[in-house]
Amino acid sequence: MSSEKPPIPAASNFIRGIIDRDLAQSTNASRHWAGSPGDAAHHAAGNADPAKIRTRFPPEPNGYLHIGHAKSICLNFGLASDYNGVCHMRFDDTNPEKEEQEYVDSITEMVQWLGFGWDAFGKSHLYYASNYFDFMCRAAEALISAGLAFVDEQTADEMRITRGTLTEAGKNSPWRDRPIAENLQLFRAMREGKHADGSMVLRAKIDMASPNINMRDPAIYRIKRAHHHNTGDKWCIYPMYTYAHPLEDAVEGITHSICTLEFEDQRPFYDWVLERLANAGLLAHPLPKQYEFARLNLTYVVLSKRKLIQLVEEKHVSGWDDPRLPTLAGARRRGYSPEGFRLFADRIGVSKADSWIEYTILEDCMRETLNNSAERRIAVLDPIKLVIDNYPADQSEDCFAPNHPLKPELGKRTIQLSKELWIEREDFMEVPSKGFFRLTVGATVRLRYGYVVKCTGVEKDAADNVTVVHCEYLPDTKSGTAGADAIKVKGNIHWVSTSHAYTCEIRMYDRLFKDPHPGQGKHEDGRDKDFLDDINPNAAHTINAQLELSLKDVKPSDSFQFERHGYFVADRKDSVAGKPVFNRTVTLRDAWQK
Ligand code: ATP
Ligand code: MG
Repeated sequence: MSSEKPPIPAASNFIRGIIDRDLAQSTNASRHWAGSPGDAAHHAAGNADPAKIRTRFPPEPNGYLHIGHAKSICLNFGLASDYNGVCHMRFDDTNPEKEEQEYVDSITEMVQWLGFGWDAFGKSHLYYASNYFDFMCRAAEALISAGLAFVDEQTADEMRITRGTLTEAGKNSPWRDRPIAENLQLFRAMREGKHADGSMVLRAKIDMASPNINMRDPAIYRIKRAHHHNTGDKWCIYPMYTYAHPLEDAVEGITHSICTLEFEDQRPFYDWVLERLANAGLLAHPLPKQYEFARLNLTYVVLSKRKLIQLVEEKHVSGWDDPRLPTLAGARRRGYSPEGFRLFADRIGVSKADSWIEYTILEDCMRETLNNSAERRIAVLDPIKLVIDNYPADQSEDCFAPNHPLKPELGKRTIQLSKELWIEREDFMEVPSKGFFRLTVGATVRLRYGYVVKCTGVEKDAADNVTVVHCEYLPDTKSGTAGADAIKVKGNIHWVSTSHAYTCEIRMYDRLFKDPHPGQGKHEDGRDKDFLDDINPNAAHTINAQLELSLKDVKPSDSFQFERHGYFVADRKDSVAGKPVFNRTVTLRDAWQK
């Protein structure tokens, strides 16, 4: 398959250009790294950073990773490895309410499954933003002391109304000019639990007339009595994400903070906070820089945590690792390969232009990598019996099938041929259509790795359905023998001996949505569509297939190409020793192309 298509080059990635420039100009060369995250003094005491760049992957542990995250993971970890840097695995766990250990575990597992790690320069770089709460609080006090933050007692509604609009400036809070000492005292009282949830917030003092609404005195700390999965009940104030994130990057010595486009308008605040804290001596130059890229949009898929949660909670799928889901846990169970995801990330590139990527591009990446790695096996998915009338009933013989046509070093395996075989129902046609070169009465075909047979007749049931096909074999034509090429046939079909077969459950998965843009557009009667309306009801069905016997003893998660059908994986959850169940990963060819 790969030999038919020219190789597709990796797409461009503008962030490489930025890193190349920074390296050429030694932008980050003066940085020190003390071996662990910390403030300016902490790092100043350390050595020059051996890492040329530092990137980070900062998920919030409030859900499972999906295919969009894979783009970000491959980008951040990939750049670090290409440029002799480090990518930090950081849990952005500053929001106490929605975060759980279960998500933390699943996220680390999936990043490693994709082939990445965070051990570099003799250290593990797994970090939790919640470990920086003390620093964030100290930084807030530094801003207050510099006259750059104040405690606001307006209600949430009042703050919303006075924020202004895109065309109208906002209004200063009546609390904006509180004396510094009073702000400090109030902020400490907030921290000590002396004020009710929501009764006041700490805000940066910037510019209520800024054309960028994010610069209109954004909130940086709120009061929230909530139990945190890491810090327990130690805190009743929590930093806002837009304030916390630049500080996390800075204490970790991140050089290139890469995020998705929706954070573009936050960049001025990101820089504002870091500059002010560098002026206050808490952080050192050079400071981290934020760069934004277009998030992945993939046809036939939804990549929003909210929608994925809805699919799981409303039981449209069986769980977070349902093989139809675009979660990484689901994709792994479906048989998608880490190599395929990395190839996909290279192929789609990184740009600032929002676009939709065709799902077939991802599937082709899986086909290509699996074509290379997966051994071949034989499976009859829709069996009908073929009887070789001139073959002795009590006999069977070895046939030899290569495990991989491109890798002769993987050798051959033995499959048994006998008088009664299972063949694919669609490989017989009573009235052949034009161009059909397989079995029909009077025709000859090769039984792959076996003999040439001539079809002699059929048996039918009362409803006129063919139930058994009969044939005779030509004894001198066995594959691999001198006589094999004496007779030329146009058809070549696969088969499994009925007395040497493993009857197996196979889950035939297909795309979860039938529309390339789930939920977009309208119904015929004019109603707006919901993404659930586009669910493909035929995205999963189970069949009982006849497999060659060697497939009975495979390990969970082993992937194979079932010849002429596609790629299949032994389900990692439901397979038991000696009784695997298979999932269809992807067909050999795209059946969705119009
Ligand atoms: P939400 O904001 O709804 O909580 P999220 O998908 O943005 O969800 P995060 O945990 O914040 O979740 O994501 C971690 C990282 O993955 C972020 O840096 C984010 O930019 C990146 N990311 C998330 N979705 C995509 C996507 N579709 N394409 C590329 N990167 C993504
Ligand atoms: Mg996010």
